[in-house]
Amino acid sequence: MKKNMIPGSFQLMKKINTGLVLDTIRLYAPISRVEISKMLNLTPATVTNITAELLKRNIIIESDFGKSTGGRKPVLLKINPDSYYVIAVHIGSTKLRVSVMNMESEIICSLTEKLYPNMEFEKVKDIMIDFINQLIKEYLPEKNKILGIGVAAHGLVDFNNGTITFAPNFGWKNINLREILEREFDVPAFVDRDVRAMAMAESWYGEGREVEDFICIKVGYGIGAAFIKDKQQLRGASDGLGEFGHMKVEINGTKCICGNYGCLENYASERAIVRYAMENGYRDELDIEKIHEEVNKGNQKIIDAVKKAGFYLGLGISNLINIFNPRLIVIGGDLIDINDLFFDELLLSAKNYSLQELFQNVNIKRTQTGKDAITKGAALLVLDNLFDSIQKEVIS
Ligand SMILES: [Zn+2]
Repeated sequence: MKKNMIPGSFQLMKKINTGLVLDTIRLYAPISRVEISKMLNLTPATVTNITAELLKRNIIIESDFGKSTGGRKPVLLKINPDSYYVIAVHIGSTKLRVSVMNMESEIICSLTEKLYPNMEFEKVKDIMIDFINQLIKEYLPEKNKILGIGVAAHGLVDFNNGTITFAPNFGWKNINLREILEREFDVPAFVDRDVRAMAMAESWYGEGREVEDFICIKVGYGIGAAFIKDKQQLRGASDGLGEFGHMKVEINGTKCICGNYGCLENYASERAIVRYAMENGYRDELDIEKIHEEVNKGNQKIIDAVKKAGFYLGLGISNLINIFNPRLIVIGGDLIDINDLFFDELLLSAKNYSLQELFQNVNIKRTQTGKDAITKGAALLVLDNLFDSIQKEVIS
């Protein structure tokens, strides 16, 4: 070791290199040791040492043989999906979902419960804790295999403190969910906004995989956005960046759940479609499934309502395009998952209201991570941070 190196810096380098190797395997698996050392500019011996430790601990496994470039075929490495597990919790506006996930963010099993407007936190908390206990009992008898709990929550969240600052649908304020879960289950817990979890899933597995920067929009019962810059979340001064649903689109507009008037969420969400449908004379109960059903049946009242909401979302998106000049916008959520009409309409108005020079350079895509994007993202909150914990274990 060089004399001028500070004590512990060798350990630190090893920790950083282990993290880099793990990340490279996760992102590019199946991958050979030679490819890893080339990509990371590490010596083959360093990579062999690190991967030997990871193999010994069963965190990675050998998969197939790669293509030979003359000599022996190289052994390929990948993350062992079942070395550890994560509990992923999604507290949506209308639904609670608790899942057990493996290291590749695949869902092993889930429990769900319907949630209602203004539901008390204590009630939701009791169901959540009960679900987690049930899943652990049934699927994870070895408790040391649980890396942690990741929560993707509706509303405003302070990620650093693990606090739900404000959940407008339920009226919850300042709930330190991380503290509650860590006390109850004695594993690390992470809490972030649902749209940020969706963006994370998109960044690891979806459209955002190949890019450093993109905007992710979630549209369903409400509307939110996450901004990814250099593969990291942009959070703003108080972790509130991306409240796209409260962008003003009508100066004399209707009152929003935030207390203000004319917010995009009132004009482009599932709630807006229900209101438009009633204005068009539709009298039955309407939820997301029913909206899709009626559109497919050709019900003109609902088709017009969906088109109007799509128009407003596109208008909001044109403002984002004009301000941020993004290369990629990925859109997900209940309204996007199963409806072409809505997506086509928003594309049209985004185009019509953007500066054309900027619109030409933006790619607007639907999420590829599907209905489970937020649950996958909740698991990634843990995996992203827990690669750190695994490294500590490997180094110590
Ligand atoms: Zn609002």
